[in-house]
Amino acid sequence: MTGPRPTAFPGPARRELVLRAAVRQGLLDPEESPLAGFVDLDAVAATVDALHRAFEGPAGVLHTFAAKANSLVPVLRRLRDLGMGCEVAGPGELAQALSAGFAPERIVFDSPAKTRRELRQALDLGVAINVDNWQELARIDEILADRTAPESRSTIGVRINPQIGGGSVDAMSTATTTSKFGIALADEGNAERLVAAFRDRPWLTWLHCHVGSQGCSPDLMAEGVAATLGLARRIDGELGHRRVVGLDIGGGLPVDFGSDRADPGYAAYVERLRTHAPGLLSGEFRVVTEFGRSVLAKAGFTAAYVEYTKSSGGRAIALTFAGVQVATRTVFAPDAWPLRISAHDATGAEKHGEPVEQDVAGPACFAGDLVARARPLPLLEPGDIVALLDTGAYYTSTPFGYNSLLEPAVHGATVSADGTVRFSPLRRAQTVEDLLDRTGG
Ligand SMILES: *Cc1c(COP(=O)(O)O)cnc(C)c1O
Repeated sequence: MTGPRPTAFPGPARRELVLRAAVRQGLLDPEESPLAGFVDLDAVAATVDALHRAFEGPAGVLHTFAAKANSLVPVLRRLRDLGMGCEVAGPGELAQALSAGFAPERIVFDSPAKTRRELRQALDLGVAINVDNWQELARIDEILADRTAPESRSTIGVRINPQIGGGSVDAMSTATTTSKFGIALADEGNAERLVAAFRDRPWLTWLHCHVGSQGCSPDLMAEGVAATLGLARRIDGELGHRRVVGLDIGGGLPVDFGSDRADPGYAAYVERLRTHAPGLLSGEFRVVTEFGRSVLAKAGFTAAYVEYTKSSGGRAIALTFAGVQVATRTVFAPDAWPLRISAHDATGAEKHGEPVEQDVAGPACFAGDLVARARPLPLLEPGDIVALLDTGAYYTSTPFGYNSLLEPAVHGATVSADGTVRFSPLRRAQTVEDLLDRTGG
């Protein structure tokens, strides 16, 4: 990467600046748009820069962005401009990646369930494919044997489940003994069968693993990569030098949802990789990464007006427009996905009153639609604004259609040296007409 190093990591002052500008410019309005998502595009650039720097060295590394973390096409386009590739897991994300302008050879197609048509399309385009299981491998054999199919430029790998155990969030742990993902490396006979699969298929040249997402420590992730590297060395040992061309080491770096720090950072992860998987970054193998949450989460926040406040059984409750439709994981699994919330007045200025324990509730019609319980915050009043922090990945970009709540707009923000905030649309708000159209109205 050349040019000056971006330094705009988010923090309270910067968020306040963006929020105040959003109110002033009418992007947040109590009647017209009481809920909106924001992504600090300068912060994204700074994070991508940190990622590229951390992996600098002799190995050729392609950093792909896991599209599911934020699949808005303008976000993907920005990441492409910053030099990333894209990891997709289905025809929708593949279409979004292509629309964002990623070259097919910089797209990786992972998914535990791919139809024959999807596989054929990926092979026709030259998109890289990671095969999930033995049946999918047989399916690719069939497609490639079909002489009417044009010769493919796709690089093809196999996803390994290194079975090294899970992290603190079960639903995010993909390398447990019985995980649904990949070929279970430690199961009886599978390592030998994998070596044989490479022997029989000259087009099989990559190995892939993705140990998990939030909740997995960098050490656990690096151990999974080490097991995959061990298999690559075994295949090369039995079948010849450089039979395995590259390793796709997945994503999954956890995010600190409790502070403004990027902790652990990419540099710390690379250090763990050097310890557990020495040689991975020596240049012997090409490397692909697939980070999602760690690239976007901390660059985003979600802002919502407080419509009403009340007290029930002695508990102060603020009823806002941000609930399960934009914070699905937090609402359904609050212990695994707590979010920081900041309180602002109607101008967007941060409130600094005496903290009072409050529930911050969403608009959906079920009792659990709370984004925070008994949270000490300056007492919220109608017309105030709450900001849900660290929601740039898997939150507003991944809405849930409960109660037919409309999908809010998402805005990109950049701040120039003189403090001027400029917004660009990342997704327009869903309208009632869009909703009726989708629901047969
Ligand atoms: C979800 C996913 C990622 C990204 O995970 P993050 O935790 O968002 O970094 C990468 N690779 C695969 C295969 C995934 O399923």
